[in-house]
Amino acid sequence: MQLVNLKVPEEQVQFLEAVRTGLGQQQGLFFPTHWPQLDCDTLLALPLVERSTRIMHALFGDELPLTQIQQMIDQAFTFPAPLQRVKGELYCLELFHGPTLAFKDFGARFMAQALAKAQQQERVTIVTATSGDTGAAVAQAFYRQPGVQVVILYPKGKISSLQEKLFSTLGENITTLAVDGDFDQCQALVKQVFDNQALVKQLNINSANSINISRLLAQVCYYFEAMAQVPAERRKDVVFAVPSGNFGNVTAGLIAKAMGLPFKRMVAATNINDTVPRYWRDGAWQPNLTQATLSNAMDISSPNNWPRVEALLQQGVISRAELEAVAVDEDDTQLGMRQLAADGYVSEPHAAVAYKALKRSLQPDEVGIFLGTAHPAKFKEQVENILGCPIALPPVLAKCQGETSLSIDIAADFSALAQVLQTLDSHA
Ligand SMILES: *Cc1c(COP(=O)(O)O)cnc(C)c1O
Repeated sequence: MQLVNLKVPEEQVQFLEAVRTGLGQQQGLFFPTHWPQLDCDTLLALPLVERSTRIMHALFGDELPLTQIQQMIDQAFTFPAPLQRVKGELYCLELFHGPTLAFKDFGARFMAQALAKAQQQERVTIVTATSGDTGAAVAQAFYRQPGVQVVILYPKGKISSLQEKLFSTLGENITTLAVDGDFDQCQALVKQVFDNQALVKQLNINSANSINISRLLAQVCYYFEAMAQVPAERRKDVVFAVPSGNFGNVTAGLIAKAMGLPFKRMVAATNINDTVPRYWRDGAWQPNLTQATLSNAMDISSPNNWPRVEALLQQGVISRAELEAVAVDEDDTQLGMRQLAADGYVSEPHAAVAYKALKRSLQPDEVGIFLGTAHPAKFKEQVENILGCPIALPPVLAKCQGETSLSIDIAADFSALAQVLQTLDSHA
């Protein structure tokens, strides 16, 4: 599979090299130039692992044999993605049945497999910023993986305590840094690390953010899994609504469409951090200061996957009309959670943002699917406050709840981060 650096088009790499390096020159994102066309009728009749193996094989099968891709998918996709009916033709695609109860398990677990294949040098340091769920998914996916050090940055006090406990209590090869700042600052720090070629070389640094193409491609698979659960005659009327922060999930859905998955259109739903909805409406890219919301994993005003969405439009494989962008405010998010609960479906703020955006956009003849990106118990306190009913903790959360966070506090400052990275190196 040929990928091009979206900022430096002369830089072209193969899939495994893009996995290994994460970002290209000048922090450019790698992105494929062509999309294989799939026979969706055949694919949608297959079970998840077999179908996903064929999708990945179509994408980068020139680099790895089918049996290896099958093994990677087998190890990564060990949990289901059920389509849960809420009411009539409105469904939630539940992506939170993995080990850290968020959709990011799909991408992170597949990336761990891909990196193991791509790794040449003995040691790799993964430096990644998290707005909540990436940290846990990446930490669990790489926990105790030989030769891999993981450093996770997150905005101190701005993610739920259960989200934090899922990755900050592991220790061993997982170092977690509580940054005095917001997520955009964490993300900026990670980019600064990548700008520092000496440091990148010294520690063989990689990022597990959704800038890594392996994570995105893994996510393409669950859009197929959703459609496989919709009756064949209704598939062309499906509208997906995606709770969006960095827009990796939206990009993955658009890639599925570019490869021939026959759904109708997509609604990108944001909270009040609405850079994309305003841009889609007015044509001006004007990020505001990031504001804290109930859907904290989406508190992002400079979404780093956006250039990939633009690339799909430029390639002509997606049309503007196939993507809508809708912002949902805090009151509406709470209202969405109450409305879902009244229909017997307990959800959490991220999915509720997508649900409200979908309700605004959906036409009477369409089938609506909003993505459930996290388990409601990850936001236990908020969900209990808003819905007034108790939420039981699944075993993984109950276990880490009582454990002590091992995080180190640091300022939102590159020299503080560089110092931690150097200590890691000297301990290795
Ligand atoms: C990461 C995350 C999102 C945003 O996904 P993007 O791919 O960054 O747009 C939405 N919901 C939850 C629960 C998340 O963890």
